Amino acid sequence: MTDCIFCKIVDGSIPSKKVYEDDKIICFYDLNPQAPVHVLIVPKEHICCADAINEDNADIIAYIFTKIPEIAKTLGLSNGYRIINNCGDDACQTVKHIHFHVLGGKQLAGQMA
Ligand code: AMP
Ligand code: ZN
Repeated sequence: MTDCIFCKIVDGSIPSKKVYEDDKIICFYDLNPQAPVHVLIVPKEHICCADAINEDNADIIAYIFTKIPEIAKTLGLSNGYRIINNCGDDACQTVKHIHFHVLGGKQLAGQMA
């Protein structure tokens, strides 16, 4: 999608601090980290949000969740981490290309909202 920041990170026209990349997904550090470790895991395919997950595109979401433990391990998150997905305006989703935040590296707040 031409007007999408994360599609531009995927195609390399916007730089990112990459942690992991393969043919299906990319993982890079969040520009405004909210924890000592804060990365985003993004499918290369443009899917707007969790609300658009369906039987045709669910495989990539499952794939992301198989990669999260590997990525967390390389980031040293041996004591746990939080996975967050914001969907839509009430959740303050600012980039409309589905992504999963992985945060850790400290004891995170118990309150989630
Ligand atoms: P969300 O509010 O869930 O849509 O999260 C979007 C996240 O993308 C925010 O945490 C931003 O800090 C992050 N972000 C926006 N632009 C970039 C960028 N160019 N590189 C890395 N992270 C970004
Ligand atoms: Zn996109």
